[in-house]
Amino acid sequence: MIKFLDLYKINQRYRNEIDLAIKRTLDSGWYLSGKENENFCKNFADYCGVRYCVGVANGLDALSLIIKAYGFDKGDEVIVPANTYIASILTISQNECVPILIEPDINTYNINSDLIEEKITSKTKAILVVHLYGQAVDMDKVWYLAKKYNLKVIEDSAQSHGAIYRGKRVGSLGDASGFSFYPGKNLGALGDGGAITTNDKALYEKVKAIANYGQQIKYHNMYKGINSRLDEIQAAVLNIKLKFLDKDDEKRRQVAKFYIDNIKNPNIVVPRVNKEEAHVWHVFVIRTKRRDKLRKYLENNGVQTVIHYPIPPHKQVAYKELNNLSFPLTEKIHNEVLSLPISPVIEVNEIEKIVDLINAWK
Ligand SMILES: *Cc1c(COP(=O)(O)O)cnc(C)c1O
Repeated sequence: MIKFLDLYKINQRYRNEIDLAIKRTLDSGWYLSGKENENFCKNFADYCGVRYCVGVANGLDALSLIIKAYGFDKGDEVIVPANTYIASILTISQNECVPILIEPDINTYNINSDLIEEKITSKTKAILVVHLYGQAVDMDKVWYLAKKYNLKVIEDSAQSHGAIYRGKRVGSLGDASGFSFYPGKNLGALGDGGAITTNDKALYEKVKAIANYGQQIKYHNMYKGINSRLDEIQAAVLNIKLKFLDKDDEKRRQVAKFYIDNIKNPNIVVPRVNKEEAHVWHVFVIRTKRRDKLRKYLENNGVQTVIHYPIPPHKQVAYKELNNLSFPLTEKIHNEVLSLPISPVIEVNEIEKIVDLINAWK
């Protein structure tokens, strides 16, 4: 069986360094909010090209903390792509704001920025862009609108560690960005983890305080905060893996190029790339009208695939208030997409086998 993602194999490459880092942390007797977290945040901020980084418990918290720190009012609106993982939308409703969904561009699967302006109202406070599947959003129009209407730009960078747009890394393309280090992400921990990156000092300080019970000085609570921390062991592991992130992203690009160059089945739509550096291939998503049949066929032939995602957010039971809305492109994408195995550790013979199987499929 070719696994969709072999996390054991991914982390095994750094086995010795990870063992040492865990041992060092264990021996330090200090497990939260210490040197490992401080080091990682400094390194990750440098990597993204921003001044500040706060380590938090997961990607959902990272995004939610940004919105909380901006202090939007109940009922304020946040523009967000309809075609995204549910977390992007949850961060908005968790803060009692209203998600305003926008259809994607069918070629990039990212938000269609030409459809944003007509949805901006006096209540709109932010545009939350999602660099979906690992591809940086085309930011020019987003920046233009944000400036014109005085909106915050928040990046959901959970799938796009290392992607570059106009020479700048994802994580530095908005006012603030949320990252996830869920084990399967391009930069993955050995458990949950997340981070916020920003150049805004005031936001940095507020987010840091809110993530720590709302206190800047211990037992002096300025905000009704939460508890969301990146623990020392995860930070130590991430510090190791960060050094190899660019190399890993490059390997993903090579796998993606092989798929794109060699998949020749007329029933399959392969992803399009404008700029290579803009895509870090968190997932490699193809489209076909008979998606479920293709998935079964690959499964029967020893290839594991995943659907990102089977049900659009506006059709989820949890979002009854959105169920009557219609987003035909988003729905089409959810009905047709299938993610093929891709990772820095997949073997050439494995991707050759996958390509051969797909090309033989009728
Ligand atoms: C993974 C993911 C998140 C949430 O990250 P967690 O660490 O699982 O909370 C948010 N947005 C997107 C697009 C994601 O893929």
